[in-house]
Amino acid sequence: MTEIYINDPTPLEDDLAVEKSLRPFKLDEFIGQKELVDNLKLYIEAANGRGDALDHVLIFGPPGLGKTTMANIVSRELNVNIKQASGPILERAGDLAGMITNMGHRDVFFIDEIHRLNSVVEEYLYSAMEDFTIDIMIDKGPHARSVQLNIEPFTLVGATTRLGNLTSPLRDRFGVILRIDYYEPEDLFYIIRRSADILDVGINDEGAMELARRSRGTPRVANRILRRTRDYAQVKADGYIDGNIAKVALDQLGIDKIGLDDMDRRILSTLIEKFSGGPVGVKSLAVAIGEDATTIEDVYEPFLIKEGFMQRTSRGRIAQQTAFELLGKKVKANQQGLFK
Ligand code: ADP
Repeated sequence: MTEIYINDPTPLEDDLAVEKSLRPFKLDEFIGQKELVDNLKLYIEAANGRGDALDHVLIFGPPGLGKTTMANIVSRELNVNIKQASGPILERAGDLAGMITNMGHRDVFFIDEIHRLNSVVEEYLYSAMEDFTIDIMIDKGPHARSVQLNIEPFTLVGATTRLGNLTSPLRDRFGVILRIDYYEPEDLFYIIRRSADILDVGINDEGAMELARRSRGTPRVANRILRRTRDYAQVKADGYIDGNIAKVALDQLGIDKIGLDDMDRRILSTLIEKFSGGPVGVKSLAVAIGEDATTIEDVYEPFLIKEGFMQRTSRGRIAQQTAFELLGKKVKANQQGLFK
């Protein structure tokens, strides 16, 4: 059995079941990410005013921060339909052709994990994005020929956790590139209050703030720990989440005061104990932990780096002083050089 880490922002089955009901539908309901929201508002208003399709939009950032939510909001604000696919499921050019030939004027085509498109499909996408045309093969054998088909102007919204893995021809075809960042606890506080209202969970400000501080800057994690804390409150108290209940419930889930869980601590302790603080390549680190290198890179590392526990350098990963302090480890004389 694979272990489940409570603050892994990859969606679990039971997240998916409730997430739909928790998704904001309009830009005005989308909490935080002010710069991104303001930019999109302006572009959407301009496109709506002209009656044109919005420029293609690429959204990048760690999982669980609202990329899918934002793609859906864009289609609503444009008042058009949305079709959804993901990089790995678009295996052949024909899969893509089937979807985009069926789109209406100005519709949104959302491709999640767009960095995982294979190169054939990706190249096929270029002319669709650029001139709203695609080539399709008709007939077979000696009569086979390709014809160019016009498609309706549409907006491609691409989401990725890895901007660096996108080829530059693909990246260059997006008119708007937006970064979505970890949320501040103040924003997560409002996200939690809003979700609690929708799910009819009683919670006070102290409880909501405690959950917000321990959500790893990630709305998906915030919503998940809200539900787990509700379960705890229901069984151990009268169902109401106050500061104290939130603290005890999260301690029990193994989530510490700043939102780190067992996996985060394991990454840092392996880095310090087995690799003397680094530098070490992510693959060796992943083998020592017994976790997939991609998961470490996409899911765990960005937050640990943002919080200053480790650094990613050209020579490998390096633990920082705060990581030694967090785990109660002494910094040896030869490790002083790690912190610059
Ligand atoms: P991603 O596509 O980046 O992995 P999602 O869009 O699926 O993330 O968001 C995960 C969950 O977090 C959704 O259920 C959504 O309700 C919630 N969420 C994300 N961003 C926000 C936000 N800014 N305000 C309120 N809820 C949000």
